[in-house]
Amino acid sequence: MMPADWRLSAACRGHKDADLFFAPQTPVNVERALEICHDCPVQADCADEALTARIEHGIWGGLTEDDRAAIWRHELWEAAQTR
Ligand code: SF4
Repeated sequence: MMPADWRLSAACRGHKDADLFFAPQTPVNVERALEICHDCPVQADCADEALTARIEHGIWGGLTEDDRAAIWRHELWEAAQTR
C-alpha cells in the first residue's frame, strides 16, 4: 500500500480500542468508537470510502451502521424523486 494512503493517518490505526469499530453495536461501544473518529484527521476520506463502497458493517468516518443506512435510503429517495 502506498504511504500516501489515508489509512496511514487513521486515528483508529493501532489504537488500543480498535476492536470497538466492529464490535457489537451497543450504545457504549458506538459512543467510544465515535469519540475516536471525532478527532481523526481522515474522517471525511473514511466516510466517503464506506459510503461509496457501501460498507454496511462497523463504524466508519464517524458514521454508524444506522447513519449510513439512512444516507443510502435518502439517496434512493432522492433518485426516485428525479425519475
Ligand atoms: S474516521 Fe474513525 S473509523 Fe475512520 S479512520 Fe478515522 S478513527 Fe478510524
